[in-house]
Amino acid sequence: MRPKTPRGIQIKRLDQIEVMRRAGLVVSAGLEAMATAAAPGVTTLELDAVGRDVLASHGAKSSFLRYGAGMGLPPYPAVVCLSVNEEVVHGIPGSRVLRDGDILSIDFGAIVDGWHGDAARTVIVGEAPQKVRDLIEATRLAMWAGIAAVRVGARIGDVSAAIEASVKGHDGRKYGIVREYTGHGIGSAMHQPPDVPNWGHPRRGPRIVQGMALAIEPMLTLGTERVVEGADEWTVSTADGSWAAHWEDTVAVTPDGLWVLTEPDGGAAELASRGVRCGGQCE
Ligand code: MG
Repeated sequence: MRPKTPRGIQIKRLDQIEVMRRAGLVVSAGLEAMATAAAPGVTTLELDAVGRDVLASHGAKSSFLRYGAGMGLPPYPAVVCLSVNEEVVHGIPGSRVLRDGDILSIDFGAIVDGWHGDAARTVIVGEAPQKVRDLIEATRLAMWAGIAAVRVGARIGDVSAAIEASVKGHDGRKYGIVREYTGHGIGSAMHQPPDVPNWGHPRRGPRIVQGMALAIEPMLTLGTERVVEGADEWTVSTADGSWAAHWEDTVAVTPDGLWVLTEPDGGAAELASRGVRCGGQCE
């Protein structure tokens, strides 16, 4: 039986993926700049300004600014989501002052010529205990396990299962996998089908084909998988106050292999260490 063609999934030509790469490099530059600036005494609003400068200097637009307008949400007021400690995602930059030992999830998006890039990372402000460093590393590794499972002919469920297996296999610790938010297709809009859950069963869901682009983004916690939304209707925090980490990259399926559009090296090093072929301009 012929598998069902995934509906609503935008298939990109290579020239369109190349534009997405330009957006991805802006995202990467912004993450780097904000991670470098994230120090004790700095407010999250000051980091938003750093993100705005990076967008402006590349002539790029924000994927996040005013997101939600017309969708029943208060329009998102910033160019970056900055989520501290027990905040998981969608923290709004403001007057909060970062302190030594905080962890900061930086989620940033950019539009170049109508095409989006989206990525996130969690960084430590100053020093953090081993337990927190392990959480962040488990989240990063789960993302790469998911990315490495992306291949033509596989299904989205294979990616989800690879992420879940990575989380469960990591250093014997138990982490909560946030289920209310997932990865997603990305292209001429930031959020497109298909959803990419961070848990699930292999051999299920839409089939992966050439020209797909996916944002893979596990969110892990030191406690519960349950989350609550803040009064601002954006900030998502763990229900039990445990700390959370978030890591995300945008990956495209090219004729030559995977191209991690939001990594400076296109994903070359991490993919090679997992025996996965890097496509696009991977160096
Ligand atoms: Mg995303």
